[in-house]
Amino acid sequence: MTGPADVVVIGGGLVGAAVAWGLGRAGAKVVVLDEGDDAIRASRGNFGLVWVQGKGDGMPEYAAWTRNSATRWPELAAAIAEEEGVDVGLRQPGGLEPFLDQTEMDAGELEIRRMHNQPGVGANDARIIDAGEARVLEPLLGPEVVGATYCPHDGHVNPLYLLRGLHAGLAHHRVDYRLNHRVERIERAGSGYNVVTERGTVYGGKVVLAAGLGNGRLGPMVGLDVPTAPDRGHILVTERLGPLLSHPLTRLRQTEEGTVMIGASSDHVGYDTSLDFATVARLAARARRVLPAIGRARIVRSWSALRIMSPDGFPIYAESETSQGAYVVTCHSGVTLAAAHALDLAPALLRDGFNETFAAFSPGRFKATAAA
Ligand SMILES: Cc1cc2nc3c(=O)[nH]c(=O)nc-3n(C[C@H](O)[C@H](O)[C@H](O)COP(=O)(O)OP(=O)(O)OC[C@H]3O[C@@H](n4cnc5c(N)ncnc54)[C@H](O)[C@@H]3O)c2cc1C
Repeated sequence: MTGPADVVVIGGGLVGAAVAWGLGRAGAKVVVLDEGDDAIRASRGNFGLVWVQGKGDGMPEYAAWTRNSATRWPELAAAIAEEEGVDVGLRQPGGLEPFLDQTEMDAGELEIRRMHNQPGVGANDARIIDAGEARVLEPLLGPEVVGATYCPHDGHVNPLYLLRGLHAGLAHHRVDYRLNHRVERIERAGSGYNVVTERGTVYGGKVVLAAGLGNGRLGPMVGLDVPTAPDRGHILVTERLGPLLSHPLTRLRQTEEGTVMIGASSDHVGYDTSLDFATVARLAARARRVLPAIGRARIVRSWSALRIMSPDGFPIYAESETSQGAYVVTCHSGVTLAAAHALDLAPALLRDGFNETFAAFSPGRFKATAAA
């Protein structure tokens, strides 16, 4: 790319790549600055669900945004297949969250009721199903399963192919992707920004912070408070098995290759990404109760990775009030929201009125909560 960029995107994980892909496709001149391969990257450690049920309990706008993304997902998958030749393996047969006792089932039912009762939430069509119906959908569920929540819009993808497809698209749309360019400073320069890395400075008319857990440090440079924290999740993968599941479950999904992914825990241990064997054992034990057929399968891989969690768990999207043209985009469901980020949010960055469009997702809500 020659000449100054219209937009500099900081971060090349699933969020930055989806946004940059959408911007490039819309005709903007874009530079992506990304840290090195040893950086913390949620995008390389996730479970791969495109998940609608349960999303937005406490923020109806997030429920609607998630549902919108799930609806837009086939379009994104088709574009990546046609334009970049990468099949991300999208399947949206609906998904289940199985319950192992009545207490879990009651909590699931309550959540669905709470979600439905929110004004303007729209329909996500999640409902409680009994054990019989759950077994019609998934005949190999174990005898302890007493029921499930089912949502017809849930699905899953191969998240690594998604990242690869989006990155292939960056090249295709002439987005200038620069690895090993850790951003140190962002400085106002004329009507835009100088974004300073150890390897030089890049000018952009606009700058988008999509640096995951790195946004907390970068935000104050452009008047944005981004209060996110790491949330560690563990995932296990079995050897390849014959067909066991035709729907993704909240903590179990069978990949196209036949492996079964078991996940994902949640704990708050700072930036520690070591493997905790007690957590791994707990995940495996529950998985065997839900799907006894995997009881003898060998675990071939396991890892932990860090989610990017805001105080209420919902996304943060905003243009800075004090540094116009500087934005933050972050969330903890970058797979689910990839379609909305690429197809809806990216074009909105090129128009006026970003904060009006995404008012519910402003970090100002945390100040309002703290003051209350
Ligand atoms: C265990 C686990 C399971 C998950 N399961 C799901 C799921 O099923 N479905 C779902 O939707 N989501 C899931 N997620 C969440 C999903 O992975 C994240 O939402 C997504 O990866 C976030 O992408 P990101 O681009 O914001 O962050 P990251 O992938 O962390 O990328 C941030 C990028 O910014 C770069 N960066 C940081 N600071 C700087 C800087 N100063 N200069 C330049 N570059 C910088 C980093 O190098 C990195 O490449 C899961 C996450 C985990 C950990």
